[in-house]
Parts: sequence; C-alpha cells; structure tokens
Amino acid sequence: MTNPYLAEWTTEFNLPPFADLKDEDVKPAVEAALSEGRAAIKAIADNPEAPTFANTIEALEKADATLSKVLGAFYGMAGADTNDTRDALMREFSPMLSAYSSEITANAALFQRIETLWQERESLDLTDEQQRVLMLTRRSFVRSGAKLEGADKDRMAEIKSRLATLGTQFSQNLLGDEREWFMELSEDDLEGLPQFVVDAARSAGEEKGAKGPVVTLSRSLITPFLQFSPRRDLREKAFRAWAARGENGNANDNREIAREILELREERARLLGYENFAAYKLETEMAKTPEHVRDLLMRVWAPAKEAAERDAAILSKMMAEDGVNGDLAPWDWRYYSGKRRKAEHDLDEAELKPYLQLDRMIEAAFTCANRLFGLEFEPLDVTTYHPDARAWNVTRNGRHMAVFIGDYFARGSKRSGAWCTAMRSQQKLEGDIRPIVLNVCNFAKPPKGEAALLSYDDARTLFHEFGHALHQMLSDVTYDSISGTSVARDFVELPSQLYEHWLEVPEVLEEFATHAETGAPMPRDMLERLLAAQTYDQGFATVEYVSSALVDLEFHDGPAPKDPMKAQAEILAKIGMPKAITMRHATPHFAHIFSGDGYSSGYYSYMWSEVMDADAFEAFEETSPFDPAMAKRLEDNILSKGGSEDAEALYTAFRGRMPGVEALLKGRGLLAAE
Ligand SMILES: [Zn+2]
Repeated sequence: MTNPYLAEWTTEFNLPPFADLKDEDVKPAVEAALSEGRAAIKAIADNPEAPTFANTIEALEKADATLSKVLGAFYGMAGADTNDTRDALMREFSPMLSAYSSEITANAALFQRIETLWQERESLDLTDEQQRVLMLTRRSFVRSGAKLEGADKDRMAEIKSRLATLGTQFSQNLLGDEREWFMELSEDDLEGLPQFVVDAARSAGEEKGAKGPVVTLSRSLITPFLQFSPRRDLREKAFRAWAARGENGNANDNREIAREILELREERARLLGYENFAAYKLETEMAKTPEHVRDLLMRVWAPAKEAAERDAAILSKMMAEDGVNGDLAPWDWRYYSGKRRKAEHDLDEAELKPYLQLDRMIEAAFTCANRLFGLEFEPLDVTTYHPDARAWNVTRNGRHMAVFIGDYFARGSKRSGAWCTAMRSQQKLEGDIRPIVLNVCNFAKPPKGEAALLSYDDARTLFHEFGHALHQMLSDVTYDSISGTSVARDFVELPSQLYEHWLEVPEVLEEFATHAETGAPMPRDMLERLLAAQTYDQGFATVEYVSSALVDLEFHDGPAPKDPMKAQAEILAKIGMPKAITMRHATPHFAHIFSGDGYSSGYYSYMWSEVMDADAFEAFEETSPFDPAMAKRLEDNILSKGGSEDAEALYTAFRGRMPGVEALLKGRGLLAAE
C-alpha cells in the first residue's frame, strides 16, 4: 500500500486523510519527498537548455511540492497535538531540513542559472509577479552566501554554525537561571494575594519540592505577584532576581555569549558586503533602513515617556499615602498601577467572563468577515487530527475559498501560545489550489455541557489569529513562495492586528457579547468600562518595549559593542530611561534577539505593524467600520496580494500614503492629556 502521506488525497477539498495518517509513515514520507526534491533540483541545475523563467524559477517553485504536502500536514498536526514520537521526529527532521536548504543555496550551477535570468530580466517579458519572484529567489540565495568563494565561503559556514550553537546556549542558560531560583513564602507572606496567585504559588512549591508556596521567575507567576503583593521587601527581592536572569556570574551567565553573537553577526554582514548587521537584516523588511526604525521608535518614545512620568507622579503619591518612604522603584510600579486600575476602571474579570462565549466570538469573527468580504462559513463534517479541532468550508458567492480549521482548547499535547498556520497555501501554478488554514489557541476547556467562556484578551487573540487566516484565505497569487502570509516580518502582523479592531466596534460586542445563561447583551456601562480600560498604563508598557527595541537596534547598527552591558547603560542614559521602569528584556535575557536570528534588529516589528493597523483602521472609522468600498480596497491591495509586491507599495495603494504615528499614539492613549 502507498504511504498515506504520499498517496494522492482524494478526500473532499483534498484535505489530508487525517484518520489514515500514522506516525510511522512520516519519516519514510519525508525521506521520499527529500529524494524527490533533490532529483528535481539536480534536473534544474543540470538542464542542458538555456535557463528560462519556466525551467528554472517555476521548476524551483514546484520542486518541493511533495515535501510541502507532507510537512504541511505533519507540522500542522504536531504543533497542535504532539506526542513523544512526533517530538522525536521533529528533532530528527530539523537538521535534515536545514542541510537540504543549505544544499540548494550552495548549488553553484543552480545559482548561475538564476543569476543569468536576473541579468537578462529586462528582456524576459515577465509579469510583475514573476519579476518579484525572480528578485526574491535570487536575493535569498545571495543572502545565504551563494556568491561567496574560497576562504570567505568557509568562514561563513563556520560563523553560521557557531551562531547556532551560541543561540541554543543562550536559551539554555536563561532556562537554567529561571529554573534554579525560587523564593519561599510563609503563610503570612500570602496576604493580599488573590486565590489564583496563591494556588499557582502552592503548585509551584510542590513542583520545586519546597515546604510551602514559592514565587518562581515564570512570567505567569512573578507578574501577578508583583502586582498584588503588598510586601515591598518581597517584591524587591523577587524583582531583582527576575531582572538578573542571565547576569548572575554563574555558569548560566549570558553576557559574554551576547558579546560574541554581536561580533559574529557583524562579521557575517560584512562578508556579504553590508556595512553592519542591521543594514543586512533590514534590507528585506518594510522598514528597509536603521534610520527609518530609529525615527519611528523615537517619535513614540517622547510621548510614551511623558505619559509614564505623569503616571509615575500619581503612583508615587499613592505610595506616600501608604506611608512608604523613598522613590517609586521598578518593584512598586505594577503594585500601585494595579490598585489604581481597580479604583479607576472597576473591571471585574469574573463579572465580564459570562458575556464572552467562545462560540459567539467565533460567530462574531465570521460575521465581520462576511460583512467585509462576503465570506460564508459552513461547518464541515470531516474527521480532523483531533476531536476538538473543527472545520468549516469557506465560500464566497458559491465558490470554494478555503478550508478553515479552528482548534481552540488547551491540552497537554499542544504547545503554548496561539498561532495561524496553513497546511496548504493558495497558488495557481499547479491548478487553482485553495488553502487549508488553521487557527490554534489555548483557551480553557469548559466542563462537559457548559459553554466555553473567554477573557477579553482571549477574544482578542481569536480575532488576531483570524486576521492572519484571512490573509491566507483571500490570497490570490500565482506562486506558492509569495502566497498569503509570505511577506516581510514587519508587515505580517498588519492583517492580524488590524482585525482585532473589529472586536472593539461597539455594535459587534453589543450583538455577540451575550450572557451564557440569560442571553442578555453586555450592559452598556460594562462595555464602556471594558473599552476604556484598553489604554490603561500604556506609558509603562510602551517605555519598557521601546527601550528594548532601541537597544536591539543600536547593538546591530554600527560596530559590535565590546561590552554590551556598558553599551546598554549608555543607550538608556541617552534616551533618559525613567528610573521606575526597566527594559522589558535586558541584554542577558533578551531571547528574542539572542536565542536565534528571528527578531535580531527586528524587535521593533510589533510597533511598526501597529503604526499601520492603527492608521488602517482609521480609514474605516473615517467612513464606517463595515464600509464595503474600503473593505474591497483592503482585500485588493493587501489581503489578496501576499508578497507579490513590496509592502510599502501595497500599503500606499490601500491608504494613498504611508502612515504617521498619530493613530498609534491615540490608540495607546499617549497623546498628552488636555
Ligand atoms: Zn500574529
């Protein structure tokens, strides 16, 4: 019998035949797909005919069809529902797949064909989309070092491998420091903590083998402890340990690793002909240059700092009224800010929750997509990879657009967080291929027979991931490599963050936020308090984020610092970092930028996307949240386009101009109070 991963899928919509896919079939399928890919690459490279777009670039697009099919189904499932076998398979595949992709970019004959096409591009009569795919293909080869020769090529391989080792080491050290430290609490020390923090501290204590409850350095325990504990001495002790992760002078110290990583990154960029690592990294991003990033961050910095200073004055006064002498310190901020929130907004999670039912929030996300883009969602009666994962057939005017799978409940076999992934992407090169899109979340599963209830943050996550799903489902391009969410990192969060705004449209909450038992709509004043609370304490949040993003940028823009800790202190002094706030991620535990390359000189990306989503939603607010003409502009210029054009061109086509920061400042409540 043919391996079910490799067989032709004759299911409805060519869905993976989940019930037939067995873990023992995965490895043989991946090996077969890799051989098939290698044979296809060899055939392209050795083709005696002169290179053409079809026999080289399109052939490359098709070379991994089987590999994508197998990996799409396997990784889609394994992320949401893993087991020891699947974990072991993923560990085994990771070096196999990275060796395969290095082999392709190091294939000199193949690169020569791409380079020839690139030199001849003006005379090839290519469509705009083809020009773009050719440029992107060549660029990824060049950036991987395809043009290097001799000693430079060897040195590049050495640097890459050393960086991979250092990145892993950085993560493991951080984990080591986080695991080792804990602070025992007596029964008296629990005073003032809400029950959920007490429970978490007790179970952490059991896990650590302590005599009683403990505070650990896990963000989900230490943050509420800092927010609720009235014991200033304990807050200080816990905060200092948290801030010192990776900087304790023990075997887990990350300072020297950070220095070496920065040095190697600079060398790598120089080998490839860039002035520094930021120039190399930002070339492929929407921001393009370090100056553009710095400009954005500094524009937000000043009003954020002012707002934080206004807040600090209020919190200091509260502290003095509490009879505490001394200046407001980083271990005081969350505590007094939490007290102030309660006094000003009086928002009780427990009171809010019955109004946010999972099924009604899914309905809300679907209804908004229907009103904006005409999409319809019909439940599909199919077996997926897990009984909790539900599937829908997505259509428009009777035309099949996508299969959407929503897998919302937490379980032990699922990794943490929330994400959107495609088991198959949209493309037209090999027929009218429509996508299979997954949204995976970790919402608490209710007892049998009860409605699943969400927090407001959960509901926002649901809308966020659904925005990514729309980017996949509305995609309308020819080539797989630029389909859907295959766009610059600082552009990819635009559709998702933008979609969150529809949850905040009062008429959406009025219709879909109904009480699980009584069916009554959310009371008007609760709705208003909920929406008003969204801008609370944004001075603090923005300051801790922007300071981290600036340090990341400065580390990579220019010669690598000899002493990163000293450089960090100088950067913070220069921007006037408020004393009562610290960086969200200081260098020795800044995993985003040191555990791997993902967000190096890219931590700014979240805010870059936010500038656009705030500005883009204003376009709707200027007319109406469901303005059909504006929705069509959004689909035609952004959601259907994938990476087929430069992000700046796409945004400008939608909005008529590039965004300023005003909408973001307004959205975060950072415009100076009148
Ligand atoms: Zn996202």
